Amino acid sequence: MVLITPHRVAMRGTEYKPARCVALLGEVGQGVRCTLYEQRASPCREFEASWANGEPEPRCDDARRAHGLPPLTPTVQPSVAPERVA
Ligand code: SF4
Repeated sequence: MVLITPHRVAMRGTEYKPARCVALLGEVGQGVRCTLYEQRASPCREFEASWANGEPEPRCDDARRAHGLPPLTPTVQPSVAPERVA
């Protein structure tokens, strides 16, 4: 991790432009995953993807835009309750 302020840290690699966290595995835009998701730092835990809570997240949209990706769109919710799907 790198120290951002006396009370804040960030994952190494995210301090550069374009940002590339050292824990990110894969190719952005193709398929990626966090290799330490369960142990990720508090800034990562505070960051929500757009529509994860039913609302857009401008920081998520900005991060995607920085990598040439469009903003996420709301997922289509199933019209039938999961317990009723065979
Ligand atoms: S969620 Fe994982 S890959 Fe993303 S910045 Fe945090 S540690 Fe890195």
